[in-house]
Amino acid sequence: MLKIMTPGPTEVPENVLDALSVPSTNPDLDVAFVESYRRLCIRISHLLHTDNETLILGGEGILGLEAAAASLTEPGDRVLVIDNGEYGAGYADFVKIYGGEPVLYSVDRRNEIDTAALEDFLEKDHDFKYASVVHGDTPSGVLNNIAEICPLLKRYGILSVVDAVSTTFGEPIDVDQSQIDILCGGSQKVISAPPGLAFVVISEAAKKAMHSRKTPVASFYASLPAFDGYYEAKWFPYTMPINDIHGLDAAIKNIENDPDILKRHQTIGEASRKAVAAAGLQLHLESGYSNTVTVFDVPEGVTAAQILNTMRSDHNIMLAGSFGHLAGKVIRIGHMGNNCRADKMSAVFKALDATFRRLGVELKCSMQEVFEQNI
Ligand SMILES: *Cc1c(COP(=O)(O)O)cnc(C)c1O
Repeated sequence: MLKIMTPGPTEVPENVLDALSVPSTNPDLDVAFVESYRRLCIRISHLLHTDNETLILGGEGILGLEAAAASLTEPGDRVLVIDNGEYGAGYADFVKIYGGEPVLYSVDRRNEIDTAALEDFLEKDHDFKYASVVHGDTPSGVLNNIAEICPLLKRYGILSVVDAVSTTFGEPIDVDQSQIDILCGGSQKVISAPPGLAFVVISEAAKKAMHSRKTPVASFYASLPAFDGYYEAKWFPYTMPINDIHGLDAAIKNIENDPDILKRHQTIGEASRKAVAAAGLQLHLESGYSNTVTVFDVPEGVTAAQILNTMRSDHNIMLAGSFGHLAGKVIRIGHMGNNCRADKMSAVFKALDATFRRLGVELKCSMQEVFEQNI
């Protein structure tokens, strides 16, 4: 069977697949479903070290990002869009759609955000309702230090929207300590459930901002205030995808039962980067490496498509290229969630060794050997 080693969607474990197919009731009428939805939300909040309210939304990860923009942005609002990657820059589109005025803070895309430089910028201009920042910008794999950035924004009275779709539960996140106002996550990355669900974790300050709007939220499906009082009323704004939520419940249970998950991501992330570098390939980034994905530049003499096709046809392994400014330039190995396992990654490096041999790219050593030595 084809092994999906991409940076999301990830391979879904058997017990999550089983949970998806459990016969379900009508979620609009079943009070027990409302209870289990809310309990799952609370469990997600607790895994992220906060009592802030989590809402699970019936849509792919993008819906959480859009819901944050729809719910916070009013016409004319200035929004700081922190951009050192594709998703970083992309947030400006959501801001514009909802009538806001995005102000891009665009910096070098091979490095994590330099908090001191951001502070210099904010000193001169900090009249923003909120700022968006990506925790792990998956197309390049760059990881930003939200534990520094969000408290800095807070000091200037700026709310934060954090895109943590690809990092939630694969990188340490403490919502309270980092003072994150809206954290956005998705089901198909580290969580290892199928694509189709988003969740947002909302601070009291963010709720206050939503409730003191002068204009109504210009969306229904992407409105977070539309969930106000759902638990008391036992009423959701739309029919919840109950089977997907059963699947998410099982996936979250897997994470609760896996106390070493963060350590494992760190070990495998570090061992993967060592393997790539030792072989003489170029890691794409200079700093800010996410432990959920390893990204290296396509070496001279071959194309990304040749590498990806050979991995698929000879080894049944699907890796990913990238998109936007990185299309055709890099290869990405996803090692998140259920794919963050030494045996799976060892097989990936074995196959990459053979792929480069076949394509005539000389490596300085076996990536599989270096990987094995470092785990
Ligand atoms: C995966 C991901 C999303 C969700 O986007 P899709 O590409 O549609 O899955 C959002 N933000 C980041 C950083 C992601 O990695």
